[in-house]
Amino acid sequence: MTVIAIDGPAASGKSSVATRLARRMGFAHVNSGAMYRAVTWEILRQQLDIVLPEQIEAAVQRMSVDSGFSESGDSFIRINSELPDIELQTLEVNQSVSSVASIASVRNLVNSQLHNLARQRPIVSEGRDIGSVVFPDTPHKFYLDATPEIRRQRRASQGQDDAIEQRDLLDSTRAHAPLKVASGAHVIDTSHLTLEGVVDKIVETLALSGLHPA
Ligand code: C5P
Repeated sequence: MTVIAIDGPAASGKSSVATRLARRMGFAHVNSGAMYRAVTWEILRQQLDIVLPEQIEAAVQRMSVDSGFSESGDSFIRINSELPDIELQTLEVNQSVSSVASIASVRNLVNSQLHNLARQRPIVSEGRDIGSVVFPDTPHKFYLDATPEIRRQRRASQGQDDAIEQRDLLDSTRAHAPLKVASGAHVIDTSHLTLEGVVDKIVETLALSGLHPA
């Protein structure tokens, strides 16, 4: 099993970097945040109250979930036969996802999908706890960060209404798998680097540890 773990706070550049890196390495790209967003979207669709964890636990037990890879090499997740896509970036999902992701049964569900995907292909997986909790034994761990100002600007330029500081606070203070730098992770400040600059740095680091493009 080969996993490159990319963690970091919201708008630190993870998705762009992970997508580009996966293409360069010939690996599949697995966006774990999209999985938490998909579960959140389904919970909102069922009009459940996200402040009542028991309701969410019960809904998670009933959910039929499967995931796989599209032809482009990106992961997808299907929930109760639905394949949400642009719905995942809505304001409602942005506002609720961190609460939903703090619930242990939701994390267990996403983690089992991630392990299942990693058994099928070499992956670049991005998230908050990929190197610390989901794949702690991978030697290929990176943590991307950027100043709050730059991260706010990045989100705004994507036209997104997203209270990233509030998500980061919830994500880094929760009891289960909080956002943190995994032990052994290479920390990269992306504030003043281009996308290609960050990817080059990671590819060079991987080469030093003997991992080369497929
Ligand atoms: O990466 P993205 O910003 O789309 O993630 C959305 C949310 O999903 C995060 O704010 C966090 O609450 C949750 N998440 C998580 N663990 C991960 C990936 C995402 O808790 N590995």
